[in-house]
Amino acid sequence: MYDCIIVGAGPAGGTAAYHLAKRGRSVLILEKETLPRYKPCSGGVSPAIGQWFEFDFEPAISLKVDQIRYSWQMSDAVEVSLRAEPMWMVQRDKFDHFLIEQAQQQGAELQDNAEVTGIKFSHDRWQVSTSKEPVAEQAAFVIAADGAKGPMAKWLGIFGGKRRMSAVLEVKAQNPPDSPEMHFEFGGKKIRLFGT
Ligand SMILES: Cc1cc2nc3c(=O)[nH]c(=O)nc-3n(C[C@H](O)[C@H](O)[C@H](O)COP(=O)(O)OP(=O)(O)OC[C@H]3O[C@@H](n4cnc5c(N)ncnc54)[C@H](O)[C@@H]3O)c2cc1C
Repeated sequence: MYDCIIVGAGPAGGTAAYHLAKRGRSVLILEKETLPRYKPCSGGVSPAIGQWFEFDFEPAISLKVDQIRYSWQMSDAVEVSLRAEPMWMVQRDKFDHFLIEQAQQQGAELQDNAEVTGIKFSHDRWQVSTSKEPVAEQAAFVIAADGAKGPMAKWLGIFGGKRRMSAVLEVKAQNPPDSPEMHFEFGGKKIRLFGT
């Protein structure tokens, strides 16, 4: 029996686990993938998040960028220099896992490769079933941190959004510039997917 079971080991789950464990709560994180897990993401993180944690994020930062370029259909570019602090660029497998490791150091437990398959509130506790253990894990509280594609919101009856298809392409730069910059491109042509 835990104080809290957290479903999902992304930044939301890792943050909740870190702060709860730091305050002495017993925490179990359940993650369906094996950590560290790949996640398609642009990886831009504001350094402002540092104020909410008592550890240094430096080992989880791949790059710091202070030049931003905004363009419309690859032209009419506006270049901006970030004067206050550079933006952090992270690889999500490393960043998310780093956060979970910080939570573990505070006493949180992790079960990865453990997909949550159902939840039930019975008497005074949540029963959380996984693909890993035959017996459901139990907790007074449960946190749904299973991301946009997770099933928890639907199970809890709070899903009101409409899902839309999007595509992500990640490519390695062959000739990375000497001083890296982040590029936001708007107004690009729609890509037709699967012949639709
Ligand atoms: C293309 C793209 C680019 C992005 N770029 C940026 C960016 O540059 N900067 C930024 O701040 N944000 C960016 N985002 C948004 C960012 O990825 C999300 O805001 C963030 O991942 C949300 O974190 P989360 O912890 O809520 O969920 P997630 O990171 O999605 O984590 C949810 C976790 O729950 C697990 N899970 C799901 N179902 C179950 C289950 N049944 N049982 C157990 N575990 C489960 C998943 O495996 C996953 O590890 C981007 C998103 C996309 C798609």
